[in-house]
Amino acid sequence: MDNTLTGYSKALYSTWFYYKPARLMLDAGEGISQTLGKKIFGIRKIFLTHGHEDHIAGLPSVVNLRNLSNGDREIPIAVYYPEGDPFIGYLREYLDKKQKHRLRYDLDWHPVGPGASVDVEVTRRHTRVRAFAVDHTRGWQSLGWRIEEKRQAIRPEFLGASGEEIGRLVNEKGKSAVLETLWHPMLVYTGDTRPITDVTELKNADTLLIDSTFLNTEEMSESRMSHGHIEASFRAAAEAKVKHLVLMHLSGRYLKRDILGAIDAAAERYGRPPKLGYFFEGKYFELRGSEEADQ
Ligand SMILES: [Zn+2]
Ligand SMILES: [Zn+2]
Repeated sequence: MDNTLTGYSKALYSTWFYYKPARLMLDAGEGISQTLGKKIFGIRKIFLTHGHEDHIAGLPSVVNLRNLSNGDREIPIAVYYPEGDPFIGYLREYLDKKQKHRLRYDLDWHPVGPGASVDVEVTRRHTRVRAFAVDHTRGWQSLGWRIEEKRQAIRPEFLGASGEEIGRLVNEKGKSAVLETLWHPMLVYTGDTRPITDVTELKNADTLLIDSTFLNTEEMSESRMSHGHIEASFRAAAEAKVKHLVLMHLSGRYLKRDILGAIDAAAERYGRPPKLGYFFEGKYFELRGSEEADQ
């Protein structure tokens, strides 16, 4: 998608993303090892949204290959996942039993809930990953994940001021009166979720990866599954002023022209985000106006 983010996403099959600057994975659907190859030795942390197969089936092979193939086999992996998710619980039990005493590195499991935050190593700025609640599974809480960077921003009341004035105000009133610290969302990943109506967690995201399994509400009502759709993703992205909208987890039942039609209809209604792309047959495509570029 750009030089920081690689991934694959197709509903029911597999969804995963590797965010290189922080050496972390968002979900772990199958195909990670084949696609990333040696890069799996870079993985430090894995953030899971929920325990459906298409989001976790790649984990056993990553764990195993990190132990057996040539590379640095001693770097630990930490896995963060929604507490109470029974399927991830089974997978953890399986991996713990199978790999007990055999792993050369530490595989650490961290069950967490909404609001949990984890510092990640990025050289540039203080970065963390934070969990938020999404509505997907019944009986336990699925999570979305935000990659956030600590930034200093001018307080809203001084937004119109020039650089010179800001300098003067800082001298006069002190830094904290003029500037505030905020956690800027560089990337927001919803995992699987019903359409998001409260966009608080998506606000001003540089990149939003959002469940867009279906085309629109009518298509969604045919299914009892708890997923989003393209129209709702556009609505949420517009309200949240997202810069780069990535429609992911699209259903394999649609032809490319169905998807492009739904994108056009939604863009007419809610406007087009500055940058826009979608996944088709697992792969990412970026849209630039009416033409389209393969990335
Ligand atoms: Zn899924
Ligand atoms: Zn799911």
